[in-house]
Amino acid sequence: MQIQLLKDAIPPLLEWFRAHKRDLPWRHDRTPYTALVAELMLQQTRVEAVKERYLRFLAAFPTPEALAAADEEEVLKAWEGLGYYTRARNLHRAAKVIAERGFPATFEGVRALPGVGDYTAGAVCSIALGLPVPAVDGNVLRILSRLYADDSNIDDAATKAAYAALLRQVYPPETADFCEALMELGAIVCVPNGAPACGACPWSGVCRAHLAGREECYPVRAPKRARRRVEAAVCVLRCGEKYALEKRPAKGLLAGLWQFPFFEGAPPELGEVLAEKRATHIFTHVEWHMTGRLIRTESERSPYTWVTARELREKYAVPSAFRAFMDWVK
Ligand code: SF4
Repeated sequence: MQIQLLKDAIPPLLEWFRAHKRDLPWRHDRTPYTALVAELMLQQTRVEAVKERYLRFLAAFPTPEALAAADEEEVLKAWEGLGYYTRARNLHRAAKVIAERGFPATFEGVRALPGVGDYTAGAVCSIALGLPVPAVDGNVLRILSRLYADDSNIDDAATKAAYAALLRQVYPPETADFCEALMELGAIVCVPNGAPACGACPWSGVCRAHLAGREECYPVRAPKRARRRVEAAVCVLRCGEKYALEKRPAKGLLAGLWQFPFFEGAPPELGEVLAEKRATHIFTHVEWHMTGRLIRTESERSPYTWVTARELREKYAVPSAFRAFMDWVK
């Protein structure tokens, strides 16, 4: 790939970023720790969903030491609504490492923290440590694929590696702004679905896909595998003032989190059905099509954990997949 094309595209990109960047909470008072928290929260989660939770999380755990000293249940509770809870557990483990040894000063050190992959390590290094390390996520793959009108499949590891190598050769001294500008362009101008806003793009004069009128042909990707469809029953069991919860298995989807009694397929007879509604939750590889039932029981059945509505809201991290049924908990 021609390096000069990207080199020439950097000054207008940085100028555009400084004029148009969004005012996001993690762009204030940044430290390596807050950058790590933000990057882990933003993985596979929309910016709008992260904003308030990021502030709440840092109010609860303002330093790696505070997070390291917390119980896992408290951490999961503070993560509630963000999904992909493995990230919360990894962040908790990373905080313990940082509290003990200090924040790593190199890419290799950051990459070795629990749950930190190439992308997150690159972002934290560029944004908070001033290191010229590329962070190639879906946004960066898309905008480079369009800038170069590149026919390589962006799902191939080789394409990612080629883009990372290209970025490494052109990294300017403003590492934080460059890293964020690439992501910002992909997030608000060169967007994935629908038409990219080429009229507002600092690359409109040089972008090969745009100049050819073929923006929508890029990026090239492999066809997606169909998601597995699961029909499930979610039983909100009420006995007096209490509700039944169970813990999900320690491995797999939503590992170790609390849920209402959940049955793939038809549920057993559990009591008097007071209300019923349908809800759907889409994960990366699976879709849950749920029939929720509010059920009154005469006794606190085993093997469930019975909690009051207040305890459920304050202490137990229930994934957002079950949000549609929370209004039955009163
Ligand atoms: S000109 Fe259009 S297609 Fe090219 S990078 Fe900008 S927004 Fe994306």
